[in-house]
Amino acid sequence: MAKRIFRAVIMGPPGSGKGTISARIAQSFGLKHLSSGDFLRENITANTEAGVLARTHIEKGLLVPDDVMTLVLLPRLKEMARHSWVLDGFPRTLAQATAMSSVCDLDLAISLNIPFETLKERLKGRWIHPASGRVYNMEFNPPRVQGVDDITGEPLVQSDEDKPEAVVSRLRHYKDIAKPVIDFYKKQGILHSFSGTETDKIWPYISSLLSTKVPPV
Ligand code: AMP
Repeated sequence: MAKRIFRAVIMGPPGSGKGTISARIAQSFGLKHLSSGDFLRENITANTEAGVLARTHIEKGLLVPDDVMTLVLLPRLKEMARHSWVLDGFPRTLAQATAMSSVCDLDLAISLNIPFETLKERLKGRWIHPASGRVYNMEFNPPRVQGVDDITGEPLVQSDEDKPEAVVSRLRHYKDIAKPVIDFYKKQGILHSFSGTETDKIWPYISSLLSTKVPPV
């Protein structure tokens, strides 16, 4: 009998813990963890045309245009047709969601609802290692040595988009563009939303939902 494939996307504002939750889902349920940010960084490192375009947007704290995103993501999703996965960071816009629906069907869309104040606090303490995309938080997840990446020892930076003045407008922008995507998945009956201020408190609910949905390996 053919193996049943399971595919999920995770949506949430910046600082909502998407990456952490996707990694836990992947590990606990034996799914591949796909991340749009990682696909973009691979293209940036390989200096592809899409990578060059993506870098100019990421450096300015902007979203990468939909046509570049679909050019990078859709072939990767097609390659993954025989695998079960959880995708973090894509789709972020309705155009991306409709483009994805032409290459694969989703089983589940998870939306993380985290209060505005919590996100603001989290983002203020966020520092990243630009080359790998590793994220640290000076309060919850600090590097072993202050200011440097644990693995490479290279300096960490606070991106302009995580500076307090930029955070509020980023969160507003997220809400505006995410709403149609959330409605799109709600209409398909695959949307599940989770609210809370701590990843560890939300996780048990996500985990129990997934245990009813992911087919056994
Ligand atoms: P992430 O690792 O998810 O934080 O992504 C890093 C950066 O890549 C984001 O700040 C965006 O500039 C860009 N990016 C990632 N995914 C998308 C997407 N689906 N649409 C547009 N830009 C994206």
